[in-house]
Amino acid sequence: MISSNQKRMTRQRLIILEELRKMKNHPTADDIYSAVRGHLPRISLGTVYRNLQTLAADGEIRMLKHGGRMRFDSSLHRHYHVRCLACGRIDDVPGSAVKGLNEGILEKSDYRIIGFKVEFTGICPDCRNKGKEVAIEKETLEDFNILEDNND
Ligand code: ZN
Ligand code: MN
Repeated sequence: MISSNQKRMTRQRLIILEELRKMKNHPTADDIYSAVRGHLPRISLGTVYRNLQTLAADGEIRMLKHGGRMRFDSSLHRHYHVRCLACGRIDDVPGSAVKGLNEGILEKSDYRIIGFKVEFTGICPDCRNKGKEVAIEKETLEDFNILEDNND
């Protein structure tokens, strides 16, 4: 009974992983659930979520905890993300755009630096086109270092 359950789990997990790999827009568990239901009509959102957690724990995928909703990324190479403050969408920052961002940190700190976390925030192209820029409250930005020279 345990082994058949495990087999079923493995097949589910593979389908979830394959669907996530097709999605390049850092989907939420709901988005993945919708995609997976085409293959597994009886699966529940909770099961999808548990499988996603297992995949993340196994290092197969990344969980993105930026902002309110958990999002998932099948891309394991080191890269930075930019999150839209208006709609929550997350995109990859092109690697070349942040080259040298961490240069000099290791030398200038007395700490033995082990790692760092970078999150960019802004307004995505869709929201900019819709004029959602004005909707962002000042307090939303309090946690962030504001770039003065906004290249608009
Ligand atoms: Zn947006
Ligand atoms: Mn990504």
